[in-house]
Amino acid sequence: MTEDAAAGLFRERFGGEPDGLWRAPGRVNLIGEHTDYNDGYVLPFAIDRASRVAVGLRDDRRVRIASTFEGGDPVETTLDEIAERRFSGWSAYPFGVVWAFGEAGTDLAAVRGFDLAVDSDVPVGAGLSSSAAIEMATAVALNDLWAVGADRAALARIGRRAENVAVGAPTGIMDQAASVFGETDAAVFLDCRSLAVEQVPLGFTAAGLALLVVDTKVEHAHATGGYRDRREACERAAKELGVRALRDVAVEDLPGAEQRLDPVTFRRVKHIVTEDARVLESVAALKAHDTAAFGELMYASHASMRDDFEISVPELDTVVEVARARGAIGARMTGGGFGGSAIALLPADDADALADAVAAAFADRGYREPAAFRVTPAQGAGRLP
Ligand code: ADP
Ligand code: MG
Repeated sequence: MTEDAAAGLFRERFGGEPDGLWRAPGRVNLIGEHTDYNDGYVLPFAIDRASRVAVGLRDDRRVRIASTFEGGDPVETTLDEIAERRFSGWSAYPFGVVWAFGEAGTDLAAVRGFDLAVDSDVPVGAGLSSSAAIEMATAVALNDLWAVGADRAALARIGRRAENVAVGAPTGIMDQAASVFGETDAAVFLDCRSLAVEQVPLGFTAAGLALLVVDTKVEHAHATGGYRDRREACERAAKELGVRALRDVAVEDLPGAEQRLDPVTFRRVKHIVTEDARVLESVAALKAHDTAAFGELMYASHASMRDDFEISVPELDTVVEVARARGAIGARMTGGGFGGSAIALLPADDADALADAVAAAFADRGYREPAAFRVTPAQGAGRLP
């Protein structure tokens, strides 16, 4: 899986040389879960796994795409069909980006068609946002080739619109923002209301630490429904509390909110409000190089998602439990919940042993075999030399 795989697929399927190669990484969220659509704070980082696209402009209005992930057979359409929002399947991600450029003001009647070949080493459906990676790789490529001149925040918005339209999932902006704003060895501290971004140096590698991702391989049929349900509960609660979004509720306001909300809705609100506070505390802790304090915030975040937001599953709880028992600095489920991945921060030398211990615990409990791998904070989306 190198950039050559995308270029190779391009030559094989479309002939000739691409105009260039672009890449965009997946992401892992360190802390701040379900806060993005509540106008709150998140702290993801772009990972060292990415989607790479080889793209060449055409002289007509045709658009052809091919992916090593999908067997390489090209999907073909035209800019006009895309403008009418006619696309489905995996092609909805790159075509959705084209559509979103149009919605954001690019005149799709005036740009050239293109051929695009993609190769990715972001595992699909593991909660590392392979979807944002393919969207943002497409977005940075077209931004350059069509000379749109959109800045990174505008590109993140375009990717998010593609995701919302392509999948119909009302996701927030975190994944796309992490993919474009990522920097080597830093986390992306994002205010999802203003889209203000601050890169927070992490220094994990220098400190001898590793971030281990454990993909539980659990995919719940109700993941999309569960996400939607939580989102609606948050929006309803904000209305009942008379605020624009739950970001506007402070930790000190929680006792008052408890009087006004039913117990389940209150627990949802409590998670969001305390999670926003945990993100701010995490940024302060990381800036002070206090990884122990950050680790405790990770554990607290997991407990909040398990008990108050109720989006964890026994497999995710098992990863966190085993991590805690083996002395990891911090651990929590990451992503939308109802399956997917958990992360653990720990001394790099202990990472393999923790992966083995989690696998053993999963076998004991009759769970599917998990997959574990390390990720490091990497550079965000851009053109390859
Ligand atoms: P994730 O957590 O990985 O983002 P999603 O369900 O949001 O999971 O997105 C995965 C989908 O994105 C895939 O099913 C596929 O449609 C699309 N996708 C991601 N990467 C690629 C790729 N390299 N080639 C083709 N489609 C891809
Ligand atoms: Mg996704």
